[in-house]
Amino acid sequence: MTSQTPRDCLFCKIAAGDIPSDRVAESERSIAFRDIRPAAPVHVLVVPRRHEPTVGALATASDEDLADVFRLAAQVADQEGVADAYRMVVNTGSEAGQTIFHAHVHVLAGTAFTERKMV
Ligand code: AMP
Ligand code: ZN
Repeated sequence: MTSQTPRDCLFCKIAAGDIPSDRVAESERSIAFRDIRPAAPVHVLVVPRRHEPTVGALATASDEDLADVFRLAAQVADQEGVADAYRMVVNTGSEAGQTIFHAHVHVLAGTAFTERKMV
């Protein structure tokens, strides 16, 4: 699995405020900002401040950070007014579409989820 050190990691730089983002929520452990290429009317990325390459690695490293990411994701869905219908998506590995190797959860909503598609 590809891994990046925090020095060259885009999401570490966004979390540190070194690269701008459209931040919609944050907690002590996580931040949430709009995806630069939205795939749905609501498309927010929830990112732990701690650098781990995947959500699985985050789960192994810290129960608290893992729980916080999902708690903030639910809070974002509430804030965005989509708590009754949204998706959380986690891509793991480049073959599965992961492009940024800093753990993150996509919160997607505002579109009809009529299909059980794999995204
Ligand atoms: P993934 O493909 O699951 O690794 O998701 C990475 C996501 O990060 C993609 O949906 C990108 O559009 C998004 N992304 C890349 N660069 C930025 C950025 N500077 N600000 C916000 N989102 C970004
Ligand atoms: Zn990082």
